[in-house]
Amino acid sequence: MPEMNGYEVCEKLKKDPLTSAIPIIFVTANSNIEEEIYGLEMGAADYISKPFSPAIAKIRVRNQIELKNIRDKLTHLTITDDLTGIANRRFFNAQLAHEWQRAVRSNHPLAIAMIDVDWFKKYNDHYGHQAGDYCLRQVAAVLASVTKREGDVVARYGGEEFAFILPMTNCKTALMLAENICKGLSDLELPHTLSEFGKVTLSVGIAADVPTKNETAESLVRRADEALYNAKKQGRNRAVPFGLTC
Ligand code: GH3
Ligand code: MG
Ligand code: MG
Repeated sequence: MPEMNGYEVCEKLKKDPLTSAIPIIFVTANSNIEEEIYGLEMGAADYISKPFSPAIAKIRVRNQIELKNIRDKLTHLTITDDLTGIANRRFFNAQLAHEWQRAVRSNHPLAIAMIDVDWFKKYNDHYGHQAGDYCLRQVAAVLASVTKREGDVVARYGGEEFAFILPMTNCKTALMLAENICKGLSDLELPHTLSEFGKVTLSVGIAADVPTKNETAESLVRRADEALYNAKKQGRNRAVPFGLTC
C-alpha cells in the first residue's frame, strides 16, 4: 500500500457513510497484539496474520459475508412496511430529518405530501379486511411508480395513510405530482360501491417550504396534515396545498 497504510484506508472507509458498512479484513505481517487491537478498534471485522492458510482465510471471508447479509436483511426489515413492501414510518421520519437538515443548509425547498385513502373504513366493511389489504398494496404500487427522482421517498405512514418526501420541490411541482397521484389511482377504477365516486380514490395534502433553523420538520408534516383535512372537507379525491393555494 504505497500511498496510505491499512489503518488510514480503514479509517477513511469507516468515516464515509457510503462505505462504513463494508467489512474490512486486515491481512498483515505486523502480527503483534497492539497492532491487531488497533485495527479491530478502528472497525476492522477481522485480522489475518501472515503467513496464513488460504483455506482459513476463505472461511473467514465467508463468515464476514454471511454476517453482512444478515445485517443488510435486518436493516431492510426495520425500514420496510410488511404489507406493502414500501418504506415504513420509521424510515420516513429518519429521512425527513436528514432532508430537512440538507434543505436548511442548501436553502432549497422541501415538500411533503400526506395521502389518505377515501372512505376506507367503508371499503373494509363492504369488501372485507383482506380485500382492504390488497387494495392498500395496489395504492402503494401506484405511489411507488410516480416517484422518479432520486431522493424522493414514499412511505406507508400508518393504516391507510401514505406520505411523500420531495426534496428540492416547491409547492406548485408537488401539487402537480399530487394531482397525478389522484388521477393515477382514479384511473385504476378499483371498485368501491360505498364511495360517491364508485371507485377507490385518494385525498392529498401538501406543504412545501424553504426550511429555516427556527422551524422543525414536524411543523411541515403538521401543515401537510391540515391540507389533507381540507382536501377531505372539500369533497375528497383531490390534492390541496396548505393555505389552499400555492
Ligand atoms: P376518510 O375518507 O375520511 O379518510 O374516511 P376513512 O373511512 O378512510 O377513514 P377512517 O380513519 O375512519 O378509517 C380508516 C380505516 O382504515 C379503518 C381501518 O379499518 C382501515 N385500515 C387501517 N389500516 C388497515 C390495514 O392495514 N388493512 C386494512 N384492510 N384496513 C386498514
Ligand atoms: Mg386516515
Ligand atoms: Mg381514509
